[in-house]
Amino acid sequence: MKMGIVGLPNVGKSTLFNAITKAGAESANYPFCTIEPNVGIVAVPDERLNKLAEMYKPEKVTPTTIEFVDIAGLVKGASKGEGLGNKFLSHIREVDAIVHVVRCFEDSNIVHVEGSVDPVRDVETIEMELILADMEVLERRIDRTRKMLKSGDKKYQVELDIYERIMKTFEEGKPVRSMSFSEEEKKIVDQLFLLTSKPVLYAANVSEDDINSDKPNPLVEKLVNYAKNEGSEVMVICAKIEEEIAQLDDEEKAEFLKELGLSESGLDRLIKASYRLLGLISFLTAGPQEVRAWTIVKGTKAPQAAGKIHSDFEKGFIRAEVVAYDDLIKAGSYTIAKEKGLVRSEGKDYVMQDGDVTLFRFNV
Ligand code: GDP
Repeated sequence: MKMGIVGLPNVGKSTLFNAITKAGAESANYPFCTIEPNVGIVAVPDERLNKLAEMYKPEKVTPTTIEFVDIAGLVKGASKGEGLGNKFLSHIREVDAIVHVVRCFEDSNIVHVEGSVDPVRDVETIEMELILADMEVLERRIDRTRKMLKSGDKKYQVELDIYERIMKTFEEGKPVRSMSFSEEEKKIVDQLFLLTSKPVLYAANVSEDDINSDKPNPLVEKLVNYAKNEGSEVMVICAKIEEEIAQLDDEEKAEFLKELGLSESGLDRLIKASYRLLGLISFLTAGPQEVRAWTIVKGTKAPQAAGKIHSDFEKGFIRAEVVAYDDLIKAGSYTIAKEKGLVRSEGKDYVMQDGDVTLFRFNV
């Protein structure tokens, strides 16, 4: 699963991306690999792994990860191919969701491309480019569907109606994301792979002073109101501080956060929020060799979850022995949890839950 970081130039994208790659490089437990300079992989923070590690004393602890792609180069006119426009748009097509970094910090030394700091205008500028790109795709589709309609097949009329509804929304300057569809309609809409259908998380990049202040930042408030209208979340971060935090080891990081009066780094919050936005949950495996978290999409059933570990686990799936993380911790050990009847035996139709500590039984 991939998150794409977008935003106008000079809003703090690279700073945030640096924080992500540094944090990734610092997490020694993950066999870290740099795929491309603009792709960073970070561990998804999960306190449960530490608790399980205390219980199992494993040789290694492996968190699950999430990928971030720094998509630079969006300027006004990108949909018309200006700047790195086209490349930018094709990169967005490949991600599952978007982190839209918005400048909410004033700093006279750092030029704003539009001459002033105005988060909502900035968001609308980017949104407009994405909408224009989507309109082009949709126009072609509408033309084609009109031709197909001549065959008399009713399904084309159904499609055309939906496309025209979307076009109207675009003309109002709104993304597909802001519309609601029935399950059936959604299938048709998904086929269009529109950029503005991807879920968005706004990262309000505030100054070092603002992140510590209780005073509401009016720029952030404007952005929050805007986001509310389309049902998106806003996260307040200070990219610059995140970049510093990412270079610290765990102990120093805890100390630094305490000094700032924060319980969690902004990056950790961002990663968790991205995970939620993508509809992901983790199941856990625990043993003397390894305690590990695995990513699945909400709603995944036991055999497919087993398949994340190894395809043989899925093919030969017999059952899953599952104990909820909280139950296991309360019991104090797997043996006691079992004695108390807290370890369930689940079959192939079991829908995995977040935090299920799982042992798969399978035929080889
Ligand atoms: P990008 O063009 O969106 O990738 O922006 P950069 O990450 O390169 O940031 C542009 C400039 O803004 C750099 O000089 C950063 O140091 C600065 N910057 C980024 N985040 C912050 C922040 O939270 N506070 C302040 N004061 N400056 C920041």
